[in-house]
Amino acid sequence: MTRYIDVSDVRKLVTSIGAESFITTMADYIRADYLRWNEIEKSARVANHVPGGVIELMPTSDRTLYGFKYVNGHPKNTHVNMLTVMAFGVLAEVDSGFPVLLSEFTIMTALRTAATSALVAKVLARPEARSMALIGNGAQSEFQVLAFRAMLGIDEVRVFDIDPAATDKLIRNLSSFKGLRIVRSASTAEAVRGADIVTTATADKANATILTPEMIEPGMHINAVGGDCPGKTELHVDVLKGARVIVEFEPQTRIEGDIQQLPADFPVVELWRVLSGEQPGREYAAQVTVFDSVGFALEDFSALRYLRDVADARNIGRQIDLIPKPVDPKDLFQFVADDVVAEPRFIQLTA
Ligand code: NAD
Repeated sequence: MTRYIDVSDVRKLVTSIGAESFITTMADYIRADYLRWNEIEKSARVANHVPGGVIELMPTSDRTLYGFKYVNGHPKNTHVNMLTVMAFGVLAEVDSGFPVLLSEFTIMTALRTAATSALVAKVLARPEARSMALIGNGAQSEFQVLAFRAMLGIDEVRVFDIDPAATDKLIRNLSSFKGLRIVRSASTAEAVRGADIVTTATADKANATILTPEMIEPGMHINAVGGDCPGKTELHVDVLKGARVIVEFEPQTRIEGDIQQLPADFPVVELWRVLSGEQPGREYAAQVTVFDSVGFALEDFSALRYLRDVADARNIGRQIDLIPKPVDPKDLFQFVADDVVAEPRFIQLTA
């Protein structure tokens, strides 16, 4: 049987564990998988570009488990009351290929993206960083705030969105979190001014310039989440040129990340090298650092593993008959044979 986890199951798990603990433990799983980089099968995701969006498959595996995520990105969806990003994920046994988990992954994607952002910021942001600007206050935004609060101790967030209703929603959703100061800003420039960390999580299928060079201050860490597809970027090219840029899996980020705007030899550092200590993260206090985040299959794999472990431990979700289990594994036809067909019958043909 396959464990099926739906939206209400994920809600049950996250609310009982607590969103911040959930994100922090998930970040440990992501870190552990980045640290075994050479054991993980890696490929850039398969992207089908469609008018106004993209639909992607993100597979990976280690020696025992295989995982993949289906995910889309349609910035225009919110105009028809649908999410920009929607996903589901699967985890299977490598030995047999049997899928052990089928899960909702839209909420899980927001959690894993936030966990990854904060994991990276821990090695790139200045240790004393306590304030963050958050540009783009849509579906991902609250998750980002909680991850940075839990993992870095961020206690002030300056928020801006071109849609004031999105900012209203963020302020409402985070109003019960004690010790968190949310400051509404009138523009991106105002939000960014003086912030230690800047997160951009905007959605527009365009080469946008959310951050321009004059907004950037020495020592800032930029967590660029929304530039994740060809023709969809957030940073002015000079912001990248003046920074130390960290990427997840270089071949994928060259195609999808903000660095798509730069020549293929523009220097970047892969995250696993920093997490393993092979390369430094931030090199000096005044350095500007950028995490050119696009979302890599490994992070979904880690999130699927974590989800399987907590769901198994708490017996959350239900077992479904996704794959037939015939008594005789060579007799698949028994599942479609009705009683009549099962008993051979002779039809008399008359002339
Ligand atoms: P969303 O549509 O719910 O929210 C995006 C918000 O950005 C909207 O509120 C919109 O008004 C705002 N916005 C658009 N242009 C803006 C601008 N110029 N200035 C300020 N605000 C602006 O989308 P979401 O689910 O929150 O996703 C945000 C982005 O993150 C998307 O681009 C998505 O593709 C990307 N994403 C990346 C990863 C990753 O791993 N890197 C994972 C998930 C989502």
